[in-house]
Amino acid sequence: MGSTEHLNMRRSTGESALMGIHHITAIASDPQRNVDFFVGVLGLRLVKRTVNFDSPDVHHLYYGDESGTPGTILTFFPFQDAGRGKRGAGEVGSVAFHLPPAARDYWIHRLSQHGISFQGPVRRFGEELISFEDPDGLSIDFVFSHSERANHAWADGPVPPEHSVRGFAGATLLLRDSSQTETMLQTVLGFQPAGSEGERKRFLLGDGDLVAAVDLVIDPKSPPARPGAGSIHHIAWRVSGYDHQADWRTRIAEAGHSVTDIVDRQYFKSVYFHEPGGVLFEIATDEPGFTVDEPKEALGTTLKLPPWLELHRRQLERVLPPIDNSLSRHSQQQTVVN
Ligand code: ZN
Repeated sequence: MGSTEHLNMRRSTGESALMGIHHITAIASDPQRNVDFFVGVLGLRLVKRTVNFDSPDVHHLYYGDESGTPGTILTFFPFQDAGRGKRGAGEVGSVAFHLPPAARDYWIHRLSQHGISFQGPVRRFGEELISFEDPDGLSIDFVFSHSERANHAWADGPVPPEHSVRGFAGATLLLRDSSQTETMLQTVLGFQPAGSEGERKRFLLGDGDLVAAVDLVIDPKSPPARPGAGSIHHIAWRVSGYDHQADWRTRIAEAGHSVTDIVDRQYFKSVYFHEPGGVLFEIATDEPGFTVDEPKEALGTTLKLPPWLELHRRQLERVLPPIDNSLSRHSQQQTVVN
C-alpha cells in the first residue's frame, strides 16, 4: 500500500519523522546491583521507579539524564532470579552511549577502579569507543565523539557533569539476514544508509544532535537469542506527539507489518512491532514525560504507580525488593581522578 512517492513525501515532513532513540529496555536480575551499577558507577540518574505494568510484582527502573530526556533513557525489568540470557540473532546486541572525547581517560580509570574489564579503545566509523558489560552481561559501548548533544547532565550525581554520559549514540542489532530489515528501516521508518565497516552496516535515524547510529551485524549461522538477564528486550524510536504516533502506526500497518494497539505507558504512549529480523521495535512519544507524576527534583525517589495499580500499592510494596538509591551509598563508590 502507499506509493513510494507518498512515503517520501510523508518522511520529508520533518516534524512527524522519527527522531532517533526514545529509550531502550533490558532485563536484569538483582535490582540493587542494577542501581549500584547504573547510578553508582555509570552516573546515570534513576529518573523513575515504577513497576512492570504487565507484571507488577517486578520493578521497572528508568535511568537517564537529570531531566529524564527521551534519548537518554535506559530501562530495566529486574527479575530477581532471572538466569543469564544468551546473545544471538533477533535482538539488540548492545547499546551505545555518547560521551565527550575529553572524558575517555576518566572512564578508563573509573571502570578499572571498579574492577570492570573493557575492550578498546578501538575506532569504529571514525569514532573512538570502549566496550564493557554490566553485572548481568548487557553489552555497552561508550562512544567518544565530538557531536554535541542537548543533554542535561546530572549535577548531583557521582560522576562530574563534564564526564557524564550524554545519552544514546545508537545500538547494534544482531541478525541472521538483513535484507528485509534494511528494506523496512529505509522505506518505512526513514533510516538513511551510512556505509559499512567489517561485518557492520550502519544506518542513521534522526538529524542533528538527536541522530542515532543503528548498526546491523549479520551472522547467518547465529543461533537465535535466548532472552534473560543481560538481554535487551526492545528498542523504542522517538516521536514527538500522539498524532504523529498514530500516523506511524497506520503507516507500518499499511506497509504490511503487524503492529499492536497504542498502549498507555504513563510516561509515554507506545506501539510495538517486530522488524523482519525478529527485533522488537517500539515507537514512543515524548509526551507526557517523566515529570507527569513527580517534579524534576524528586524524580526516581519514590515508587510511582499508574492509577490502575495504585489500589494495590500496599501489596506491591510488600513484594517488591527494597532498593537503596541514597546519594551517600553511591558517593562511597565515587572515583577521584587526576
Ligand atoms: Zn519500551
